[in-house]
Amino acid sequence: MFGDDVKLISYCPLCGSSYTPLQTQILGEKEDSHLMHIQCGNCSNAIIALVIISSVGVSSVGLVTDLGSEEVDRFRGDCQVTTNDVIDMHHLLQDEEKLFARLA
Ligand SMILES: [Zn+2]
Repeated sequence: MFGDDVKLISYCPLCGSSYTPLQTQILGEKEDSHLMHIQCGNCSNAIIALVIISSVGVSSVGLVTDLGSEEVDRFRGDCQVTTNDVIDMHHLLQDEEKLFARLA
C-alpha cells in the first residue's frame, strides 16, 4: 500500500512472520500520517504502527499492543485522529524504535 519504503511493518517483530494486507487495519489517517493496527496471523500478537510520509521519506514506528480487533473497531468508530494524537503517539512510540530498527 505504501510501497517498499515501509519495511518496518512488513514483518512481525515478535516471530518474524510476514504480514498480509488483510491483517492491517487503518485506525486513522491525518494528512500524511497513518495509524495502523496489525495483527500477526502466526503468533496473534498485535502492533500499533504510525507511518508518516513526508518530503524526506517514509518513517514508521510501532508498538506491541494487546489492543484487540474489537477494541480497534471501537477506537476507530469513536475517535477522529487529530494532529495532536499523532504527535502523542509518535512520542509514545519513540522508545520502541530500537525494537523495529532491526527490521528496517
Ligand atoms: Zn508474529
